[in-house]
Amino acid sequence: MNKTNILWLRKNLRMHDNPTLLHASNHSEKLVCVFIYDEVIHYKQHGVDSLGPYRAKFLWESLSSLKKSLQAVGNDLLILQGDAVEILKSLHEEVNAATIFTQTECGQCEQEQEQAVSQFCNLETINITTLLNCDQLPFSKETLPNNFIVFRRLIEQQWEAQKSMVSKCCETPKTLPPVPDTLKTQSLSVNPASESKPQSAKASFLFKGDEQSGLDRVEQFIWNGTGLENYRDTCNQLLGADYSSKLSPWIANGSVSVRYVYHEIRRFEQERIENDSTRWAVCELLWRDFFHFNALKHGSSIFSKGGIQSNSCSKKSIDIDQCHLVQNWCKGETGNRFVDAIMKELLETGYLSNRGRQSISAYFVKEMGSDWRLGASWFEHLLIDFEPCNNYGNWNFQSGIGHDVKKLANFSIDQEAQRYDPQQAYQNYWLGDHSEA
Ligand SMILES: Cc1cc2nc3c(=O)[nH]c(=O)nc-3n(C[C@H](O)[C@H](O)[C@H](O)COP(=O)(O)OP(=O)(O)OC[C@H]3O[C@@H](n4cnc5c(N)ncnc54)[C@H](O)[C@@H]3O)c2cc1C
Repeated sequence: MNKTNILWLRKNLRMHDNPTLLHASNHSEKLVCVFIYDEVIHYKQHGVDSLGPYRAKFLWESLSSLKKSLQAVGNDLLILQGDAVEILKSLHEEVNAATIFTQTECGQCEQEQEQAVSQFCNLETINITTLLNCDQLPFSKETLPNNFIVFRRLIEQQWEAQKSMVSKCCETPKTLPPVPDTLKTQSLSVNPASESKPQSAKASFLFKGDEQSGLDRVEQFIWNGTGLENYRDTCNQLLGADYSSKLSPWIANGSVSVRYVYHEIRRFEQERIENDSTRWAVCELLWRDFFHFNALKHGSSIFSKGGIQSNSCSKKSIDIDQCHLVQNWCKGETGNRFVDAIMKELLETGYLSNRGRQSISAYFVKEMGSDWRLGASWFEHLLIDFEPCNNYGNWNFQSGIGHDVKKLANFSIDQEAQRYDPQQAYQNYWLGDHSEA
């Protein structure tokens, strides 16, 4: 072996359980690890910057931390900005690379990039974005069930028969091949995002974008305290740090491996207790897999107005109707206190509970009658844990145009508020106490 290779990191920004990193390390004499701020991450959509302030900060923290970790084992991270395909082409020439390694992604744009890169070099992809690999599924991509309950039942049947269906985590490399001397390209040293800001101190959880903070959170939620043990009872709450795992930002950019989270839950079941909560937590991870496979199956139609039920693949062309209403929703000034409290939390922290996301997306579509794509792009801008398959898949679902046609007909925001915030503690927390005014 006398090879210089490139490792193109996208959504696997970690040292632990990173088979692509391990594989690249084992097959290279010199190695360039690169992350690129490209047009898939950073673009304008409906007049909104896709990479908003919270995720911009979190991503930069994640990259800075990964850079230090790679340096500690003899390599480095090159952080670049621009057209990923063009950058990889010129890097490939610069260091005379034999192979580019990357982790496969389920999104349409990411897949198109992989295709373009494979035109000029030997591209080796490793499939570990999801808990289960496509080739382990009891159905093909084309015959993926459109209904989550069916999907889950089929997976669980297979689990019964084959307990080790989710493969084990791989080891963390102790040393890495060095960067080649021929590399002249310089890494960015400041965050390229124009907007980057910390969450409000009122946030239920303050996220720090480094791998170790993510792993600490796994430990804290699963093993210390009662977070996992009581998850089934708390997961619809709106206030507090421990009603849910808060792992989504790390899982979304791959600073924490979803397989690692899964195996820790299973270990907890063996060593402490298996109950409805632990099973529910695994079910949430399966929702994530489901939306990823859904994106793989339906490609760019998850972005179109009619969702996966339509054949249109247009991500663009949107009627920016009801501008005023939509802007009020974005600013948390609709006049409905429950909606406004949720939107304020999003605006000030970049994070929302799953319940909050469900309520305001259904309200946006059902009660405001707005085009769901505007709501989804506002989420994309603000969510610290934005992930395209999850965000657009969930919005499709909430809008009644996804895989399961949700019963929007019965949705009422007032009933949601009554059910999930009966004492108005959440509304008072974000908007101030109404009765004192
Ligand atoms: C309209 C809408 C948009 C959403 N956009 C995103 C998004 O951009 N990124 C994102 O990660 N999640 C998204 N979700 C899913 C879910 O709301 C968040 O994953 C969850 O609230 C994150 O908090 P947590 O880590 O504490 O979750 P927990 O409840 O602790 O769940 C653990 C993990 O399971 C996964 N998960 C849980 N629920 C879902 C779900 N419904 N769909 C897919 N994965 C799930 C996440 O990786 C999460 O971190 C969206 C949901 C809705 C209704």
